[in-house]
Amino acid sequence: MENQYKIIHQSSIVVDLHNDYMEERVNHPEHRLFANSKHHTDLARLKEGGVNVQFFVIWTRPDDHENHFTRAVELIDILNHDIDECNGEIKLAGSYSDILSTVANGKIAAVLCLEGGQLIGDNVDNINKLYTHGMRYLTLAWNYGTEWCGGANDDDSKGLTQFGKQVINRLNELGVMIDVSHVNKKSLDDVLAHTEQTIIATHSGAYAVNPVKRNLRDEHIKEIARRGGIIGSVFYPYFLNNTDKATINDVMNHINYIRNLTGSVDCIALGSDFDGIEITPDGLENVSKFPNLTKALFDSGYKPDEITKILGQNALRVFKNICG
Ligand SMILES: [Zn+2]
Repeated sequence: MENQYKIIHQSSIVVDLHNDYMEERVNHPEHRLFANSKHHTDLARLKEGGVNVQFFVIWTRPDDHENHFTRAVELIDILNHDIDECNGEIKLAGSYSDILSTVANGKIAAVLCLEGGQLIGDNVDNINKLYTHGMRYLTLAWNYGTEWCGGANDDDSKGLTQFGKQVINRLNELGVMIDVSHVNKKSLDDVLAHTEQTIIATHSGAYAVNPVKRNLRDEHIKEIARRGGIIGSVFYPYFLNNTDKATINDVMNHINYIRNLTGSVDCIALGSDFDGIEITPDGLENVSKFPNLTKALFDSGYKPDEITKILGQNALRVFKNICG
C-alpha cells in the first residue's frame, strides 16, 4: 500500500534522542521553539514530523565558560521558558508515565539531557541537582572530554578515572541513562568494565560502515545490544559517509549494518542531532522529515513492528527500565 508507512509512522510513538535546539537558540535568540525557528526545530515542524518525544540537549563548549554547572542551570531555565511559550503543546517529562500521558493527550513530551561531563562541574552532587531539573541522560564526554573521561578527540590512552567511576555510580543510583556517544575507546571500555548497567549511545553510527572516531566499533555495538541498550541513528553526513553530502540511504546503511551485526532491531533508535549539525542528508533536512525515514525503513522490508521499535519503542523500553 502506497501510504502504509504513513499509518505506521502516525501510530508509532516517535522518539528522537538528540536535538541541539538550544545551541541555535543561544546563538540566535530570535529562533524560538513556539514559532519562527529558522533552523531545524520548532513546534509546527515537530508536529508535522510526528515527533512525540523530543530529548533536548543542554551543551556548553568546554573552553567557553568558567562554571559549566551554573551555565547548565541557566540554559535549563531558558529551555523551560521556551517550552512555556508553546502554551502546553510541549511538556517536560521526567518519567515513563509522564511521557505516556503527555503523548496520549496529543502533546509532545520533552526530556532534558546534558551533553558533556564538564556540565556537572567536577562535583557529583551536582548530578542530583541536575536530576531534579529533569536530566534523564548524561553524555559522559563531548569531543574534548574532561579530566575524568576521554572524548572522541582525546588521546586514546585517556580513560575513566576514579572520579569518573563515582559519576557512573551516581547516575546509576538516580536512574539517569549513561550516554557514551562522543566517549573515546578507552573510556568506553572502562565504563563497560565498571558497570553492568544498560548504556546508550544517543547519536552515533557504525565504525565498520564509516571509520570516524564518533562511530561505534563492532564490539561496542554488540555489548550495548547485549545489555539491552540503544544506539540513536545520527543524521550527520560526516558520520554517515565522511563527506558533506548524504542521503537517507546512508542512514539506512548504518541501520542495516547494526541490525545484521546484532541480529535484531532491538538496539536501534533515532538520534538525529538536528540543530547540532550544519548540514543534513537529503530528505532529512529538519524535524518535519522523520516520515521519510519511516518510508525508507518500510521500503527496505522492515516489518511494521520493527519500524515501531526503531521509531520509539526501543528508546521507551530503556527509558522505562532506567528512569522509571
Ligand atoms: Zn553530540
